[in-house]
Amino acid sequence: MTPPPSDPTSTSSELGWTPIAEEAVRAARILHPKANQLPRPDHRRVLTVANQKGGVGKTTSTVNLAAALAVHGLKTLVIDLDPQGNASTALNIEHRSGTPSIYEVLIGEVTLAEASAVSEQSPNLFCVPATIDLAGAEIELVSMTSREHRLKEALSTEILDEIGVDYVFIDCPPSLGLLTVNAMVAAQEVLIPIQCEYYALEGLGQLLSNIELVQAHLNRELTVSTILLTMYDGRTKLADQVTQEVRNHFGDTVLTTVIPRSVKVSEAPGYGQTVLAYDPGSRGAMSYMDAAKEIAVRGATDGQKGGEL
Ligand code: ATP
Ligand code: MG
Repeated sequence: MTPPPSDPTSTSSELGWTPIAEEAVRAARILHPKANQLPRPDHRRVLTVANQKGGVGKTTSTVNLAAALAVHGLKTLVIDLDPQGNASTALNIEHRSGTPSIYEVLIGEVTLAEASAVSEQSPNLFCVPATIDLAGAEIELVSMTSREHRLKEALSTEILDEIGVDYVFIDCPPSLGLLTVNAMVAAQEVLIPIQCEYYALEGLGQLLSNIELVQAHLNRELTVSTILLTMYDGRTKLADQVTQEVRNHFGDTVLTTVIPRSVKVSEAPGYGQTVLAYDPGSRGAMSYMDAAKEIAVRGATDGQKGGEL
């Protein structure tokens, strides 16, 4: 089967291959990743995955990008900063109320290292889970000292050295409240997933002006380094239009790789797995591997991009 040339989720290496051969090659890349090692960043990268719009692929992108980096030997920590606990579910990390979680970290009861658990998907993949206790944190934080800096303080160099991570991904809730502000203060980079659909750009202006506010007052280092197009449906013209519009607007900040809409991607969390573990031969798994590679290579060669608001 030859994928249509206009489909940005197809790769030239696949042209002319049978679907089974394509699948086997994709699975081999994930199951035997040594041949495709990714560069280790020259400094620890902390990325906040944010978009106040719900259901755009923040959590899916967080866990799958983190898993893709981890299978390449890069130690990666996912911080679940959403009371929904979806990232914890996808990584199959215990997150019943009372489990040491990001909530206890934010209120200073435990350290990040104490709350972090290893994912069964890879010994290089760690997660600090979110429990339902985090739901009240947004209000509790208001009266606390250095309320915008609580996560940053928890992510101290010493603690991250102790865990020894190369990458930290912070999965934000769908709001621009204090939890998301904490995530933006704690990170150097923002990764914005944008869903390839009609309302994709709605609300983006508000997100970007919030980022500018954080840059101006709380974290000068912060840049929008990465935009990832998600849930691309090659059968619709609309997906191409949105893709083009986002690329025209944000240029090189947008990853070349686009994540296709795929049933496998949406099924995986139901099994407590990333799509890389659930179906390594799927196009969804491969696209997250490609996106992770782009992120790793950009970080290694260009330093941080961004500031192109
Ligand atoms: P929230 O704002 O609620 O935190 P989110 O931005 O984290 O949502 P996800 O939970 O990652 O978004 O995705 C929303 C839904 O879309 C989920 O059911 C997920 O399984 C599904 N989904 C995400 N990416 C894809 C994809 N590429 N193909 C198919 N379904 C997808
Ligand atoms: Mg989410």
